[in-house]
Amino acid sequence: MAEKKTKKETASKKKETPKAAVSAKTEKAPAVKAPATEQKKARVGVFICHCGTNIAGSVDIPDVQEYAKSLPNVAFADNYQYMCSTPGQSKIIAAIKENDLTGIVVAACSPRLHEPTFRTATKEGGLNPFRFEMANIREQGSWVHMHDREGATDKAKDAIRIAVAKASLLQDLVPKTVPVEHAAMVVGAGIAGMQAALDLANAGIKTYLIEKNPTIGGRMSQLDKTFPTLDCSQCILTPKMVDVGRAENIDLMTCAEVENVEGYIGNFDVTIRRKARGVLTPAEAEAKGIVGGGCNGCGDCEAVCPVIKPNPFEMGMKPRKAIYIYHPQVVPLIYTIDWDSCIKCGLCVEVCGEKKAIDLEMKDELVKVKVGTAILATGYDLFPIEKKEEWGYKKYENVVTSLEFERLICASGPTGGHLVRPSDGVTPKKVAFLLCAGSRDNTGVGKPYCSRFCCMYSLKHAHQIIEKIPGVQPYIFYMDIRSFGKMYEEFYYRIQDEGAKFMRGRVANVLEDPDTKNLLINAEDTLLNRPIKLEVDMVVLAAAVEPAAETDRTRKLFGVSRSMDGWLLEAHPKLNPCGTTTAGVFLAGVCQGPKDIPDTVASAEGAASAASIPIHKGEVELEPYFAQCIEEKCAGCGMCVNLCPYQALSLVEKEGRTVMQVTEAKCKGCGTCGGFCPGGAIWMQHFATPQIIAQIDAFLIGGAK
Ligand code: FAD
Ligand code: SF4
Ligand code: SF4
Ligand code: SF4
Ligand code: SF4
Ligand code: SF4
Ligand code: SF4
Repeated sequence: MAEKKTKKETASKKKETPKAAVSAKTEKAPAVKAPATEQKKARVGVFICHCGTNIAGSVDIPDVQEYAKSLPNVAFADNYQYMCSTPGQSKIIAAIKENDLTGIVVAACSPRLHEPTFRTATKEGGLNPFRFEMANIREQGSWVHMHDREGATDKAKDAIRIAVAKASLLQDLVPKTVPVEHAAMVVGAGIAGMQAALDLANAGIKTYLIEKNPTIGGRMSQLDKTFPTLDCSQCILTPKMVDVGRAENIDLMTCAEVENVEGYIGNFDVTIRRKARGVLTPAEAEAKGIVGGGCNGCGDCEAVCPVIKPNPFEMGMKPRKAIYIYHPQVVPLIYTIDWDSCIKCGLCVEVCGEKKAIDLEMKDELVKVKVGTAILATGYDLFPIEKKEEWGYKKYENVVTSLEFERLICASGPTGGHLVRPSDGVTPKKVAFLLCAGSRDNTGVGKPYCSRFCCMYSLKHAHQIIEKIPGVQPYIFYMDIRSFGKMYEEFYYRIQDEGAKFMRGRVANVLEDPDTKNLLINAEDTLLNRPIKLEVDMVVLAAAVEPAAETDRTRKLFGVSRSMDGWLLEAHPKLNPCGTTTAGVFLAGVCQGPKDIPDTVASAEGAASAASIPIHKGEVELEPYFAQCIEEKCAGCGMCVNLCPYQALSLVEKEGRTVMQVTEAKCKGCGTCGGFCPGGAIWMQHFATPQIIAQIDAFLIGGAK
């Protein structure tokens, strides 16, 4: 925007304010006969916010206010310390009434933060709330030019001039009210998705819970104990899984994925692919007229199945058959066929007999449901830590990941809870835990962020081996210990007292002694400033976490963005952490960023509460940024119809002519059609061509350059 200028130049520009240029241009603006009311002469009020010293520290507020007063159509200008405060808003309300204003400009922070606040104030002053425009002079002004007062001041003037040009042409708009379907959807049934679904169901809302795996529970069902209380993960999880399975208002769909999403808040039409499980539930059997049939989980089929595969739930360390359940506590307790390994020998069908639960010809089904709101709770996967070759995962047998450790130490795991070395089944006496494995890593191979729960679970792991293996010595290699939660620091002290040895420094590499299969760790102790060489029996990598596979596909279906690091993006990190920029779609749990179980459950409860509000209200207002067809200009060519990514446009016959028609509830105001129409027949409400041209003119012609 504005380049740095001398004060003199700025002053001379001020004299020939853009008034003449802009008003001339504005007057010449194409007289598009839009679906709008006649405008009375524009009288714009400008309010400049100090934001304490956030803006005032870098922007000369009195100078900017004087400049604003000189702009065309500006009838009033004022400034205040905190415009979003009650007195700040009262200034707007009073000024509208006292000065007969037709439009409001607030020069402050980002519209993401306070546009709704100032729209409300505009409405309370008696104007249509869409007669408001925000000039961002904080995030895009003072904050990025904090050491250039003159430049920041000029840029603030530019931003205000452009906003005033638009505010002069703003029109009254009426949001569209649409009814909200009394149903919700939760995608992913880990602890986050289960909690959210239970909360919604308990609030009387019909909830579809969609889980891609054959059972619910997510990663938490793979854990042994949970920090800092050390209660058994399954013991606290299983009752919730059972509650979900029993809840009347929850329609649980396992082996299911979202295939397509259409619509908007209040009215999402979701297509779900129910993958062929190969096994009928009792209800499905009954629907097919098989009396007393369907799977009862007896396991006879598993016993006779000849195909043996690694069980992914046990991180491949235990076998499973081609017809399987992950573990005895699965919900629902229904067997599933792994089609990739089933040889269709039919032995299972034979042994299942009269229950007639197995259908080897079962096909995927597509199910369509309508929901008012949706929550994404798709969780995480471990980062493939073998990419960090220096730590020897998948190269040396006795280097395992933290999730493999969880299964090895768990009483229901592959070794019955006895921690043994994968190479020889011997109980290790020296175990090293390598923290930040692939996290806080700016090499381009790992992840730059902190995975947030690995410090704590590594402390837990150290405790678990001390508890189970007499004489064992855990070594914890760490960069910093992040024990930020309630009772977490106390847990850290406890593990220190129990005898774990802590070494501060990242491990350079891990090598293997080929004879003993012991591991040699090369590291640096940054506290003592000396290199360390340590031989241990086993290494556990606290691997980084990343969004679950398929997250990207799912988020795109729901129109949700992701942040630079790949996690799903919330609407605002502080003020709207559960919402997304797609109205009606919310986030819960780790899919948004690493969280331990308490934070995951809290975020799920927040998301459920937010998702239930529009449903309980029964209707929502849609922002009126729809495209409108100016019928007398439309040639009915239909070229815009296929361009619309939301299928909001169609051609209709009207008075003997073919013209385009917009389904307003489907239009997201993206502007694609408006920018394309060769005849200029599409009017984008609130972003209309004359408004945008006025902004460009204000920038180019009236600019300070
Ligand atoms: P997940 O548990 O990952 O659940 C996501 C669910 O969504 C899964 O069931 C998945 O199959 C499903 N899904 C994914 N994509 C789709 C899709 N596209 N469609 C449908 N379904 C989908 N935290 C603690 O507080 N205490 C501990 O002691 C502890 N120990 C841990 C130990 C280890 C080794 C690790 C790695 C983590 C540990 N954690 C611990 C963290 C804990 O695992 C998480 O906080 C918790 O599991 C997050 O739950 P979630 O529901 O967000 O995600
Ligand atoms: Fe700060 Fe925005 Fe409030 Fe002004 S309106 S005080 S810029 S937060
Ligand atoms: Fe279910 Fe039939 Fe297998 Fe028994 S034999 S677990 S009823 S599919
Ligand atoms: Fe196993 Fe498939 Fe044979 Fe059934 S048909 S026993 S699932 S291999
Ligand atoms: Fe490293 Fe601890 Fe952060 Fe995990 S939680 S990335 S181990 S600092
Ligand atoms: Fe009408 Fe323009 Fe669409 Fe053609 S592209 S149908 S002229 S609105
Ligand atoms: Fe479709 Fe046009 Fe609306 Fe975009 S602005 S959603 S292209 S109708």
